[in-house]
Amino acid sequence: MLYIGCHLSSSKGFMAMGRQAAEIGANTFAFFTRNPRGGAAKPVDPKDAADFMKFAAENNFGKLVAHAPYTMNACAADENIRRFAREAMADDLARMESVPGNYYNFHPGSHVKQGTEIGTALIAEQLNTVLTKEQSTIVLLESMAGKGSEMGRNFEELREIIDRVELQEKLGVCIDTCHIWDGGYDIVNDLDGVLEQFDRIIGLDRLKAVHMNDSLNPLGAHKDRHAKIGEGHIGAEALIRVINHPALRGLPFILETPNDIDGYAREIKFLRENYSES
Ligand code: FE
Ligand code: FE
Ligand code: ZN
Repeated sequence: MLYIGCHLSSSKGFMAMGRQAAEIGANTFAFFTRNPRGGAAKPVDPKDAADFMKFAAENNFGKLVAHAPYTMNACAADENIRRFAREAMADDLARMESVPGNYYNFHPGSHVKQGTEIGTALIAEQLNTVLTKEQSTIVLLESMAGKGSEMGRNFEELREIIDRVELQEKLGVCIDTCHIWDGGYDIVNDLDGVLEQFDRIIGLDRLKAVHMNDSLNPLGAHKDRHAKIGEGHIGAEALIRVINHPALRGLPFILETPNDIDGYAREIKFLRENYSES
């Protein structure tokens, strides 16, 4: 089964996202859990969430991959920014329990000249403060392109964060094809080798989701500019090999390409046509 979807607007609630996903041929999706500019998040309507859970089960949806605001920085130098990151994540995880058993992806953060050692310690500290034994949501660290002082620029950095977290059973990783390509992992010529490296350093059992993007930049550029599928340096053929790779089967694939909803529908159709069961 290919679970594929894209980012959807959460402004009308879960059922609206579920219906829109189904309309465009998606069976998973991503959404921002709150406005990236901060402020209080909209409360969840429990009826809407329960209706959605039923709809998702009836329509064989895969796991959702919610996205934390990209302004969240768990390893900022400024304590106020770190407090926002902590409080927003705790609040998001509480609200995620209205749609239990899904994923919550976040950018590990930027260490802003403090260095990766302090960055790693601060991210782990936030996770150790916020994660609870009771939560049903798995929190995913996103692999980053390594722009500026971004943390999570390679598999080793992600592993070091995971190593310092107490409730490791609540943690996973989301790889972003544009980010790892920009980070220097050659998924065009050596996808097997990249996944073997992931397995050796982090373990494939931690890999829970994939962001599907082409890249405007060449291998190792550390730029993070997403392109439409087939319109970048990764190319459609390599991305088709990603969705069909035996190690990645069954994971949710989320498009974050520069598209409107019709563009997403076309990319979903294209990838489905190029996916082979078994
Ligand atoms: Fe992201
Ligand atoms: Fe991403
Ligand atoms: Zn990106």
